[in-house]
Amino acid sequence: MPVARLGGERGLMADALAGPVHAVTFDLDNTLWDLAGVIELAEQRTDEWLSRHYPDVASRHDASTLRQLRSAIAERQPELGHDVTALRREGLRAAGRECGYAGTALEALVEGAFEAFIQGRHEVRLYDETIPLLDWLGCYVPLGAITNGNADVRRLSLSGHFDFTVSAMEIGASKPSHLVFEAAAGRAEVARGSIVHVGDNCECDVVGAAQAGMQAVWIPYAGEDWPEDLHMPEHARVRSLSELTRILAPHLPSQARRRQS
Ligand SMILES: [Mg+2]
Repeated sequence: MPVARLGGERGLMADALAGPVHAVTFDLDNTLWDLAGVIELAEQRTDEWLSRHYPDVASRHDASTLRQLRSAIAERQPELGHDVTALRREGLRAAGRECGYAGTALEALVEGAFEAFIQGRHEVRLYDETIPLLDWLGCYVPLGAITNGNADVRRLSLSGHFDFTVSAMEIGASKPSHLVFEAAAGRAEVARGSIVHVGDNCECDVVGAAQAGMQAVWIPYAGEDWPEDLHMPEHARVRSLSELTRILAPHLPSQARRRQS
């Protein structure tokens, strides 16, 4: 569904949506919260956990060498590319094996070190507007979360705000693949053209959603320009979640589906 045109950048960017909105899906990392420094902190937590429980492994591996192990594994097993959790576990497994661990001892190392990572990975800073936006929007339309990463809205006490989630790990494909957006549309149970997808990544979120027939909204928080070498589909562009509220409001159903919390 086309968005209202401003005749701006290549005529494909607008500051308004044109059609009715019956569901909204959100990217998570850097769209609903700031991820800056979070993965580094989580990897530091892994390091600290290994130092305490498996000093022999910690003396041979740090965040950088574990990253190298994951890169090598991803090259050998490209099917793991969509599953960042499996890839991270495989990296830890390889590090443990190098130090002579096997069987249940190896699995205990993998699970403990991964749990240290995943706890740190959820120490994100929600943007101030995130909860008020989800509270308000969820009164009118179903909300979905679509992520390529391993953020879990349940760990952030956000699951109550979402009607459904779709992850690349579960689908076996990553955004911008149409498979991910098709799964989301199936769960939203409304026409694709009336779904708005919101994200910070121009290719994964905007190109992916537009190609799947959804209305796309791009939030370039850092003020970045659209890359010259990337095809630009029709989309709306906002600078904050507050601006998103402004462009969504005229297109929501007139009746709330549930009471505002
Ligand atoms: Mg993102």
